[in-house]
Amino acid sequence: EVECDKVTWISADVHDDGPEYRDREFSHTKTMFERFHALFGLRKFRSNQQEAVDCAIERRYHVFVLMPTGGGKSLCYQLPAVLDDGITFVVSPLRSLILDQTQKLSSLGIPCASLTSDRTPAEVSAIYAQCYSSQSELKLIYVTPEKIGQSDQLNKLFSHLYTKNRLARFVIDEAHCISDWGHDFRPDYVKIGTLRDRYPNVPFTLLTATATPRVQLDMLKQMKIERHLSKLFIQSFNRTNLVYKCFTKGKTDGALARTVQLCLSDQFVGMCGIVYCFSRMECERSAAYLSQSGVTARAYHAGLEDQDRADVQTQWANDDYQVICATIAFGMGIDKPNVRFVIHLSMPKSIEGYYQESGRAGRDGGLAHCYLFYSYQDLVKIKRLIMTEQSPNATRDAQKVRLENLQRVYSYCLNNVDCRRTLLLEYFGEQFLSSQCKKITETRCDNCCNVAQAKLVDFKDLSKQILSLVDHLTRQLKTITLNQLIDILKGSKQKTIQNAGHDKLEQYNIAPDITKIDLERLLSKLILDDYLHQDISINDTYGTANAYIRLGKKTISSEPILISVCTKKENPNVSSTVSNNSTRNRLVDSCLVRLKDELKLISAEHNIKYSTILSEN
Ligand code: ADP
Ligand code: MG
Ligand code: ZN
Repeated sequence: EVECDKVTWISADVHDDGPEYRDREFSHTKTMFERFHALFGLRKFRSNQQEAVDCAIERRYHVFVLMPTGGGKSLCYQLPAVLDDGITFVVSPLRSLILDQTQKLSSLGIPCASLTSDRTPAEVSAIYAQCYSSQSELKLIYVTPEKIGQSDQLNKLFSHLYTKNRLARFVIDEAHCISDWGHDFRPDYVKIGTLRDRYPNVPFTLLTATATPRVQLDMLKQMKIERHLSKLFIQSFNRTNLVYKCFTKGKTDGALARTVQLCLSDQFVGMCGIVYCFSRMECERSAAYLSQSGVTARAYHAGLEDQDRADVQTQWANDDYQVICATIAFGMGIDKPNVRFVIHLSMPKSIEGYYQESGRAGRDGGLAHCYLFYSYQDLVKIKRLIMTEQSPNATRDAQKVRLENLQRVYSYCLNNVDCRRTLLLEYFGEQFLSSQCKKITETRCDNCCNVAQAKLVDFKDLSKQILSLVDHLTRQLKTITLNQLIDILKGSKQKTIQNAGHDKLEQYNIAPDITKIDLERLLSKLILDDYLHQDISINDTYGTANAYIRLGKKTISSEPILISVCTKKENPNVSSTVSNNSTRNRLVDSCLVRLKDELKLISAEHNIKYSTILSEN
């Protein structure tokens, strides 16, 4: 259960300790800079890097580094590891991430190794022999979390090094994986907590790009790292170069068609991007659709063979494809700087996940776009997935958190008033003023572009009516879906409902003045705040899911129910930007070019003059 006082405590206690370490001289400072320049070939530290490095070398506290992806977290432990006596062990969740890091370090001439499952017995023995030797040059060893839980050999090595004072540090990369409050919980991470008990004097460095205050607290708790024994280096999550926009969609195909238009239009032509899909099947379908439409695209998901996945990654890194259609399996460890757009064809599962996925755009700091297509159907679809998840680790609490995360994303999508940055960063416990978003014309979010004045309206009376309507309808009809409820509230006389035995529906036209999207937002808020409850029912025969609305635990009190609404509707819309004539002409032109190319090939193959084909057909 989430307790409010806990959250308050977190925000008071979890703050950036960076300033404490600014402009300070240490006995190690000179050597540290020498290695920084000579070994890493870098000139200037990025924000909070030097602070975290100094704190680590000082060895008085555990180090916790929270930086957006691409911010440069690795250096915060790699530079100290080079200066420390002994060996630093880095726990990292994926082999691909480990490979990436060890290759980089080796190319810099820093002695490192990895103990992953693909090592041959001979390689493993050689690495262990080196570690046991007191003359060893090895500075960093990468391991997977499974290894720590399973390998006696490894744990013996830890103990040996510990007694010899050569166990320099434990680094936990992607440390949020330890918290099941987070979006990427990995059971194998839980075992890492035991390292703290066994080696109390070894300093830890925890790294993550994703952490809500709740996850932050849980991470420290799981790792048994007391706040007063740690220094936190926390940084703003605002990505100034990204443009965030949300669009309602009908079917996924509609969103796909728009994606094609965008890829071929001025906006994204020749630029590379990631199109996130809901399922493997949607990945394959989308990639095929894009390819047929003349956009070079490949699918990427967990269902591919290792080799295929590696191929797609390399080809994409080489700009062989404009678009990767991917599930969320794609991303961790992929560091392509020039991704100019990230499009979500379906609603993501959490705000954290969305921030992370959309954050793969614009790593080079250049302008990039993040477009999100969503629908109510997406919400139901994902809810169904969460409800039917059969993972042994899917505890009830974890499921509840997931449903809550999902509802939040949906509210985010429906919100057409508040600044997207404010909404996203709020989730990370950061306060962001929308005026800062409005200041930069180029990267303003859709809601800040919307010049219409927004105002807060109290919908308490309408909410009261809605609740009594739901009460009444659920008694009469037994089940009612959100869409049916909206229809009834807007006065529609839907057949299915009338058939269910209700014949005087027009009397319920109680929300004529509120737009459909605002009504959806209001209902979503009522669900989020537990005035209403949504039940998912799964039809075992067809595997379809329905979401039914009933009364929640809370009743309307004197508290206002506030929603900000636009006084003037002027939501930007993708289709209006791509359906103008010049874009359409360009689309036709690009199709013609491809057609001509094909004709040329055919004519060459059949030994017919190209001009002859053109004139005869
Ligand atoms: P993170 O783990 O935070 O996602 P990385 O540590 O992988 O990020 O770093 C991302 C990129 O930034 C790497 O290519 C790295 O070499 C580069 N980088 C890190 N620190 C600096 C720096 N101080 N100056 C220039 N480049 C840096
Ligand atoms: Mg990293
Ligand atoms: Zn904004």
